[in-house]
Amino acid sequence: MSALEELEGPTGQTLYVDREEAERGSKAPFFVVYVDTDRERRWGYFCGNCETAENAMDSMGRVQCNNCENFKRADEWDAAHE
Ligand SMILES: [Zn+2]
Repeated sequence: MSALEELEGPTGQTLYVDREEAERGSKAPFFVVYVDTDRERRWGYFCGNCETAENAMDSMGRVQCNNCENFKRADEWDAAHE
């Protein structure tokens, strides 16, 4: 299991980024962020392009970074198998 990296969230809380668990983004990967070190509660995503956690996910599963142009398509688009 990979090491988690501590991150300060938008409201000053401590969040944990898993740098090995990433979703493909348009410019850089979005890394999965957890609120606890046991990875039980998912907080959201960390933008690998501008290195911030300032992004929003809509009901379709799309993630758009508030800080740069990076975005992740809805989950359905990534469902195709290679
Ligand atoms: Zn960004």
